[in-house]
Amino acid sequence: MKLINIKNLSKVYHTPTKEVLALCDINFDVYEGEILGIVGSSGCGKSTLLNILTKLETATTGKIQESYDLRVGYMMQNDALLPWLTVYDNALIGLKLKHLLTDENKCYVDSLLKRYGLYEFKNEYPRSLSGGMRQRLALIRTLAIKPNILLLDEPFSKLDIDARLKISDDVYKIIKELNITTVLISHDIGEASSMSDRIIVLTQRPGKIKDIFDVNFDRELIPSMRRSKEEFHKLYNEIWESIDHVS
Ligand code: ADP
Ligand code: MG
Repeated sequence: MKLINIKNLSKVYHTPTKEVLALCDINFDVYEGEILGIVGSSGCGKSTLLNILTKLETATTGKIQESYDLRVGYMMQNDALLPWLTVYDNALIGLKLKHLLTDENKCYVDSLLKRYGLYEFKNEYPRSLSGGMRQRLALIRTLAIKPNILLLDEPFSKLDIDARLKISDDVYKIIKELNITTVLISHDIGEASSMSDRIIVLTQRPGKIKDIFDVNFDRELIPSMRRSKEEFHKLYNEIWESIDHVS
């Protein structure tokens, strides 16, 4: 089933001195249950596309049709944790802002913190967490509102490579366990190839769709396991060939 249908979407930014065409004639669907990767070089319009889906930005032209009960969870490029709030209050902030701070929802957040290894840090502040733990907390905060679609904008780009590999596995397991449709933006081909079911490649700005790749991995395989498969390397190379590399 389609959750989102995007037709002929374009985006022009107006600055005092010029117009910037960021996205041009984008067409694609997001299907229920999939992890859809979107890759492209820096500045090609990836964040713009997610900001339009979350309605932080408006499209200049085009049409977006959404399933009527879409609840969007958005995790931005930086983890945006509030340093003056405890881990627990950070996890609850999305619910608070939406006036959904019920006992039942608090219990759900407790269960997420327990399941994903942060419950014992509940009363600590974000500064005492590792990069990977902060990212997990940001994800829990996003999951607290029980989204049925998750939009992740380069969620691991601030982490070093070891932490990235570990958190990719963690996040993948969480997404598959909760069976949440996900759009994962990345400029890292390996990250997108190891986590996605389908991958859209955008051209350099203005971002247009260059290719769409189906990923034929066993969906039970976690990212670190996929990376050792021959199919992974083949897919990586195909995407590498497709992508515009900025010199
Ligand atoms: P990506 O996330 O792929 O790196 P962005 O979506 O952030 O790319 O940006 C796409 C293009 O639009 C870039 O050239 C960027 O400079 C431009 N852009 C982004 N936001 C604005 C804005 N608010 N005003 C003007 N130009 C913008
Ligand atoms: Mg971006």
